[in-house]
Amino acid sequence: MSKPLDAIIVGGGHNGLVCAAYLARAGYKVLVLERRHVLGGAAVTEELHPGFKFSVCSYVVSLFRPQIIRDLGLARHGLELIPLESSFTPLPDGRSLCRWPDSHRTRREIAQFSTNDADIYPEFGVAMVKMAQFARRLIDAPAPDPASLNPKEIIRLLRLGRRFRDLGPDLMHLNMQLLTMSAADFLDLWFESDVLKAPLAVSGIIGTFLGVRSPGTAYVLLHHYMGEIDGAFRSWGFVKGGTGQISNAVASAARSFGAEIRTEAPVERLLVRNGEVEGVVLDNGDEIRSRLVVSALDPHRTFLRLVGEEHLDPDFTTQIKRFKLRGSSGKVNLAVDRLPEFSCRPNTNGTADHLRGDVAIAPSLEYLEKAYDEAKYGDFSRRPYLNIVIPSVMDPSVAPPGKHIVSCFVQYAPYHLEEGPQHWPQRREAFGDTVVDTLTEYCPGFKETILYRQVLTPWDLEQEFGLTEGNIFHGELSQEQLLFQRPVSGWARYRTPIRRLWMCGSGTHPGGGVMGAPGLLAAQAILGS
Ligand SMILES: Cc1cc2nc3c(=O)[nH]c(=O)nc-3n(C[C@H](O)[C@H](O)[C@H](O)COP(=O)(O)OP(=O)(O)OC[C@H]3O[C@@H](n4cnc5c(N)ncnc54)[C@H](O)[C@@H]3O)c2cc1C
Repeated sequence: MSKPLDAIIVGGGHNGLVCAAYLARAGYKVLVLERRHVLGGAAVTEELHPGFKFSVCSYVVSLFRPQIIRDLGLARHGLELIPLESSFTPLPDGRSLCRWPDSHRTRREIAQFSTNDADIYPEFGVAMVKMAQFARRLIDAPAPDPASLNPKEIIRLLRLGRRFRDLGPDLMHLNMQLLTMSAADFLDLWFESDVLKAPLAVSGIIGTFLGVRSPGTAYVLLHHYMGEIDGAFRSWGFVKGGTGQISNAVASAARSFGAEIRTEAPVERLLVRNGEVEGVVLDNGDEIRSRLVVSALDPHRTFLRLVGEEHLDPDFTTQIKRFKLRGSSGKVNLAVDRLPEFSCRPNTNGTADHLRGDVAIAPSLEYLEKAYDEAKYGDFSRRPYLNIVIPSVMDPSVAPPGKHIVSCFVQYAPYHLEEGPQHWPQRREAFGDTVVDTLTEYCPGFKETILYRQVLTPWDLEQEFGLTEGNIFHGELSQEQLLFQRPVSGWARYRTPIRRLWMCGSGTHPGGGVMGAPGLLAAQAILGS
């Protein structure tokens, strides 16, 4: 008889795969069950049009934990990261701003708009990196638990308090500003030019249903400064071959440690008896038993669908229902027959340095706040914030020679349309047209270069990728849903009220993004239990 399963991981997104790989490496017999035909969840690459390999959802990485790359030997499994080289903001009046890794070059660019801002920008970067270094420790360890009387926890909290004090008065003050202010108000303290403030502010709103003037968004800015690529702090990068290559590399490592991974294997519900999980039931009715089950799905899906309210304490259920998802983003993926050309900064001889990174359609704070206004009342933004990347410029392997992929992350696209989320399919193409028209205003003739278009609304993210309410992070990264409160207070350590059921997805600490941290920390918690 074959050995019984130690762990079933529900969901083959990158976090589920990371958790599987660590458990398998420790000798557990592991089975991963993924609903889709392809692994990766929101960190996936798919050839949607012949020769074009799209990073369908997630398009840049920064926070993926270097420890995972080392522990699982992901370079051997094909993982290669390519740092972004620019951050470009075109303006409708023909001017533009581009920030580069070269600080002198960036200084000259900013000085076109404000010499004061150009002088202060490096100082701002240093302060944010120091704050991010402080906050980053929190993502590499389980969330501190202020309610615990366990001496180890108390010592951890004291250490954290000491590190906070060691920041010194200026940075402590800065930390309080970040915790309480809006991204726009915080940036107003530093800079005078809207042209610089707007592309900086957008990091505060990605994946949230908040605007740049909403209190609390300043804190999310820090996320932008926390990552590293190849040891280069605060840099972002592409994954060679598309974001799905992260998931594929982790899956390959997991298999090398003996994990079994099945696709097209949707789990319909968990087998729960007397408050304890015993296994899973697949859509086709098959039952699979296991000593542990680990859910990599969001908290709503895990508890309200797979477990069922009948097995949960009503207070816990209420808390899970209150956990905010309310997706606010969409994605438009385009295959084009030539490199886009922005009228404010034309390409030279068919190439363009300023397209070797991301492009932000974020000309002013007012533009961004107006985009939010429409979403607040249940409609998508008529002139949205776009974060565009053209990965084929840096990685020609993802598109046929001379052709390009244009990936547009779009905000705002509220899941809750005024007429109801189920109306998104009728609004999908109008939403796609809005995105293409917005970009065409900056790149005349762009529309005519499109060979293929995929439009993903929050409704599609839910239906196709299993992201409840289309939330890209399995739950907003707002302060009340972070640290020891993610997903709910008392249950932030990957355990659940159902015995032998664990969680390892982005709905747990430290949250969403392609970082692998929830998967790693959950595996450590399971192995240490
Ligand atoms: C449009 C978009 C753009 C983004 N851009 C970025 C970015 O540029 N950079 C970044 O860092 N992050 C980005 N993110 C966020 C990031 O991709 C996610 O936070 C992260 O990938 C989530 O990983 P996960 O493993 O926790 O969950 P998921 O990737 O959601 O994985 C969960 C898996 O479970 C599967 N599943 C669901 N239900 C079942 C079931 N019943 N049975 C079996 N399997 C099931 C799903 O198919 C999925 O594969 C983006 C997300 C989206 C949607």
